[in-house]
Amino acid sequence: MAACSCGKPSVYLARYSGEHLCDQHFRELVERRVRRELRHQGPFKRGHVAVAVSGGKDSIVALRLLHETFRDNPALTLSAVTIDEGIASYRPPSVEVAAEHCREIGVEHSVLSYEETAGVTMDKVVAHPARSMLPCAYCGVLRRRNLNEAAQRVGATHLATGHNLDDVAQTILMNHLKGDVDRLAKMGPHRPEHVQPGLVPRILPLRLVPEREVALYAILRGWRYHDGECPYATEATRGRYRDLLLQLEEEQPGTRHALVAGYDRLAPLLVSKAPLRACATCGEPSSGHVCRACQLIESVGGRMRA
Ligand code: SF4
Repeated sequence: MAACSCGKPSVYLARYSGEHLCDQHFRELVERRVRRELRHQGPFKRGHVAVAVSGGKDSIVALRLLHETFRDNPALTLSAVTIDEGIASYRPPSVEVAAEHCREIGVEHSVLSYEETAGVTMDKVVAHPARSMLPCAYCGVLRRRNLNEAAQRVGATHLATGHNLDDVAQTILMNHLKGDVDRLAKMGPHRPEHVQPGLVPRILPLRLVPEREVALYAILRGWRYHDGECPYATEATRGRYRDLLLQLEEEQPGTRHALVAGYDRLAPLLVSKAPLRACATCGEPSSGHVCRACQLIESVGGRMRA
């Protein structure tokens, strides 16, 4: 059996570095990376960080590690926000997992539903006869908008999401291949020059931790998470980029890290051309007169509330 450099049995082989790691050294590696990211994206000495917690592995690991990092700092508040899309067969058990973790560590938890902000559920959007796009096209836009509103409601100075290395690398590759420089410029983590009125800046503590490592870390820590699959999930565009990156990673370990490191060198040179203003209908930040969420939701019988 392969062993860690300390002699203990290996629980994980990091192919990109060739290292075998035991339980303890694997955990320390993940925690070191998260702390380093927080230093780069921060500093977070005071304020209020709201964590977007769906109940899945990424958001649970982000919540628990942020709690362990910040719990001794009385000047920094940590809370959790969950978006309920209104998918009856999928979301309720994951909201319960998120609530359980928050109760266990004593973190305030709030839930904001599409029903409350848009007057519709995803189940209704999917069944609407005027729907012209895949469910995720509506859901992704609404979730981004609702997360910002949820973070504002609790008075957060930052919004932390559980995006891992695979998610970040896929988004960078997707935006590059579409030539969408504006979206590349708007990607989190948000730097001071990104801050615009009404937009809670995002931080991504797990952005350098591969998805498999997040899952293994949660298991080794004994943290329960919801791993059900949304009935409306599609293998559309993102799935193709995920498969492509996994194949490249297999052939050339370290591809995801290299892609993100390259983006980080470019990011300071990228500036979004679209300043934000308040949406004329709902008041949330928008690059146009009316935001994309309002346009989409009205087309399927809903209306964003101001
Ligand atoms: Fe929404 Fe698509 Fe995610 Fe389901 S898979 S929760 S529809 S974004």
